[in-house]
Amino acid sequence: MTNPKVATLLKSWVESANSATTDFPLNNLPCGVFSLGDEDPRCGVAIGDFILDVTSLESEGILDLSDDPVFAVPFWNELMDLGPEAWAYFRDQITEMLAEGASKRWVVEDHLVPIKDVTLHLPIMVSEYTDFYAGKHHAMNVGTMMRGAENALPPNWLHIPIGYNGRASSVVVSGTDVRRPLGQTKPADATSPIFGPSRRFDFELELGAIVGRMSEGFISVAEADDNIFGYVLLNDWSARDIQGWEYQPLGPFQSKATATTISPWIVMKAALEPFRTSTPARELPLLPYLREPGPMLYDIALEVGLTPETGTETIISRTNYAQMYYSAAQQLCHHTTSGCRMNVGDLLGSGTISGPEKSARGSMIELSWGGKEPLTLPTGPRSFLEDGDTITLRGAASGNGYKIGFGPCTGRLLPALPVPDWAK
Ligand code: CA
Repeated sequence: MTNPKVATLLKSWVESANSATTDFPLNNLPCGVFSLGDEDPRCGVAIGDFILDVTSLESEGILDLSDDPVFAVPFWNELMDLGPEAWAYFRDQITEMLAEGASKRWVVEDHLVPIKDVTLHLPIMVSEYTDFYAGKHHAMNVGTMMRGAENALPPNWLHIPIGYNGRASSVVVSGTDVRRPLGQTKPADATSPIFGPSRRFDFELELGAIVGRMSEGFISVAEADDNIFGYVLLNDWSARDIQGWEYQPLGPFQSKATATTISPWIVMKAALEPFRTSTPARELPLLPYLREPGPMLYDIALEVGLTPETGTETIISRTNYAQMYYSAAQQLCHHTTSGCRMNVGDLLGSGTISGPEKSARGSMIELSWGGKEPLTLPTGPRSFLEDGDTITLRGAASGNGYKIGFGPCTGRLLPALPVPDWAK
């Protein structure tokens, strides 16, 4: 049955873009950065099994967005900096070039590169990175484990999108190996802390919002939504044992600084418009500044696959971005209440996206309930990540006969480096 609210497939002369299963139909046009062999990285848009090289389109004058080149640098910050009208004009231009029957097909065809031949890079220069804690099921699950069901949600949780300022330097692109961190922990049965490899290393399934416009001072939820350029899948790798020892009173620090993996493709907000949906019913009224003028979440189905070093992938979680209690627009608005300047290329992590069911939990600590109820994988019981594990996040919004996907967001866990002698 077709959903009348959701647009149908826009047909392209790139045949593979017309498949109902591709992440990258003409409706999507996500933004990435790629390189071929030893060549310098350049900007491109995914279409079916190909990437349209927009850096070369611009340098040859086929795409003209500004007096100064926009794609001479290998990240999308320059386009973002031009603002929403330029984003829309860019999409219109690319859509026209790739649509079925396009008059420019013969000019554009030479600028297609097969995705299978390229290396993908970080799509943006990440200015700053903030991570939130806006999934209620996740907050309830983790809070229950840490403080008991009665005190699971802190008293501020239903009033404020809680977050912490992370490190832009931790952000890596999908496919980058992640090294198990060393850190200080205090095992429950120990009287004093110890130093060594994290033994409770975890992933967190999140969506990242990319801020595409600079703002100075307090902005509304509606303005915040206008300032978001697009979304990526995001894995906030987390060392639970380090986190448990360090998090009070200022929140996570080294437990979240190892790596944050994002998908190589930014799905522009415009591609997600047909899938807008409201945040869940408020349990307590929000203060006026945080109320949303319209639907600000998106119906994006998400899943997590775990592949052990020897073995096949098991899908360990299935959930939806629509589960979030706060939208990225609310988070961005709240971020600016202090007068905090937001920059082009700021990355805002949604917080772990867990659903109400056990199978919809977005981290190992929830799936294994702190290690008390291990998952059953073909390789045996499993509570946290083991060396050699690959975590793959996938996400897509489904239209009539097409989907808007992000491409996989993967990372493999490498063993910790030895503790240096001087640290023993
Ligand atoms: Ca997180």
